[in-house]
Amino acid sequence: MPENCDTDVVIVGAGLAGLTAGRTLHAQGVDVLVLEARDRVGGRTCSMVEDDGRLVEYGGQWIGPTQDRINALVEEFGLTTFTQYSDGGNLQRTEDGRLLRYHGAIPTGDPVVAADLMEAMVELTALAAEVGAEAPWTHPQAAVLDATTVESWIGAQPYCEGAKEWLRAFTRALFPAEPGEVSLLHALFYIASGGGVERMIGVINSAQETRLSAGAMGVSLGLAGVLGDRVRLSCPVHRIDQDESGVVVHHEQGRVRARYAVVAVPPPLAGRLRYSPALPGLRDQLTQRVFMGSAIKTTVVYPEPFWRADGLSGHSTGHNTLTFDQSHPDRAEGVLVSFTDCDAARRALRMSPEERQQQVVAELVSVFGPKAAQPIATYEKVWLEEEWSRGCYTGILSPGTWSTLGPALREPVGRIHWAGTEYATVWSGYMDGAVRSGEEAAAAVASELDMGAGLSESVEAAR
Ligand SMILES: Cc1cc2nc3c(=O)[nH]c(=O)nc-3n(C[C@H](O)[C@H](O)[C@H](O)COP(=O)(O)OP(=O)(O)OC[C@H]3O[C@@H](n4cnc5c(N)ncnc54)[C@H](O)[C@@H]3O)c2cc1C
Repeated sequence: MPENCDTDVVIVGAGLAGLTAGRTLHAQGVDVLVLEARDRVGGRTCSMVEDDGRLVEYGGQWIGPTQDRINALVEEFGLTTFTQYSDGGNLQRTEDGRLLRYHGAIPTGDPVVAADLMEAMVELTALAAEVGAEAPWTHPQAAVLDATTVESWIGAQPYCEGAKEWLRAFTRALFPAEPGEVSLLHALFYIASGGGVERMIGVINSAQETRLSAGAMGVSLGLAGVLGDRVRLSCPVHRIDQDESGVVVHHEQGRVRARYAVVAVPPPLAGRLRYSPALPGLRDQLTQRVFMGSAIKTTVVYPEPFWRADGLSGHSTGHNTLTFDQSHPDRAEGVLVSFTDCDAARRALRMSPEERQQQVVAELVSVFGPKAAQPIATYEKVWLEEEWSRGCYTGILSPGTWSTLGPALREPVGRIHWAGTEYATVWSGYMDGAVRSGEEAAAAVASELDMGAGLSESVEAAR
């Protein structure tokens, strides 16, 4: 690529948010350039064909009802989908080692626990509806809710220990972060953006309902296909300068001048770029307080989905792990996906890949029995080690942040706009939220471009 070039809008990051912003502006006749650090598009979605033609979903993979914007792209690009396997019983592994079988989203193996959990889900969903996802800092109790961690909220509830244990596991699975790391206000924002707890944690009629046959990264590949050579790979951006006339974005291979920039990387990574003039204190204080969740995703392949013969769905929940049936309908082999979350993920970073994978297999044996001991292949992605993500599934505002710095999250800074799933008010943290945030950033930039003088003349003037 040319070392230095000019465009109307430069976009940093070719994940779903950046590519959607680019595609939306491009469709309106705006000249765009998307600069991506990695040698591939898709960011936190990463679908790779490995040995023997086996598709491995290393990143985001499920879509579900009400995720209208990602669903629209799936349809537009003609991507085929299939329903997540969910026949049979789910298993809940309790901290004292018992295995409880249940159906549906919420464990029902112990009726006392189930009754408390039903109450907790109703309570959380109602509180979330009160807080909403648009402006959590405006809630009359925002400061109190933000100073309360999910752990202290759980501890103060009248629920039985079994229900509290599961609520902690649910928090780890959802973010993934320890309940003591997440403020109640952030949790309620997140639940509001996803449309309620049951919509987020189940399979049927929920966020884990549908998978893409050729992998979720196909959506990003479709968007990148529309943009063609307007997407530049292996171009990590390290600095953005701006003045009244435009921006100059410096990346490892040169620099790009433009009228506007859309920074479509997770907030903690946006905070690591250098800006001139420096970002306002409120914005920088905010990005200092957003941290990425901690998860390792391991895919374990067996000759056949043996758990199905035992009447099991493959879905299990435990203290720090979560599994699903990951088998592909086109292949006879059985696949389990295991998420190692939070503290357990951080502890696992001190292990070798072999030790980590042995640990995952040992856990699968403890849940699904001895047949789980003999996988034919194992694949893992340690998202905490990924230089251009530094964790997943999403950025989390630490306690006290929404209530004091919330308005700084979505506010553009001069000619710099922000996009990414963390900025979404609907399905924040999910692929759908990423697409929505890209569309919103594109609309905001387009309206500023409309207000400005003739685009190309202004770009000329900026040179
Ligand atoms: C293991 C895992 C499981 C998940 N499961 C699901 C799921 O089932 N369903 C769901 O909806 N969501 C899921 N998610 C979340 C979903 O993948 C994300 O919400 C979504 O992909 C985020 O898109 P984005 O564009 O906002 O950010 P990203 O995908 O992070 O895109 C940001 C891009 O910016 C690039 N970048 C970073 N820094 C720079 C820089 N300095 N210069 C240039 N480029 C840079 C990155 O390489 C990346 O390509 C999961 C995520 C993970 C990792």
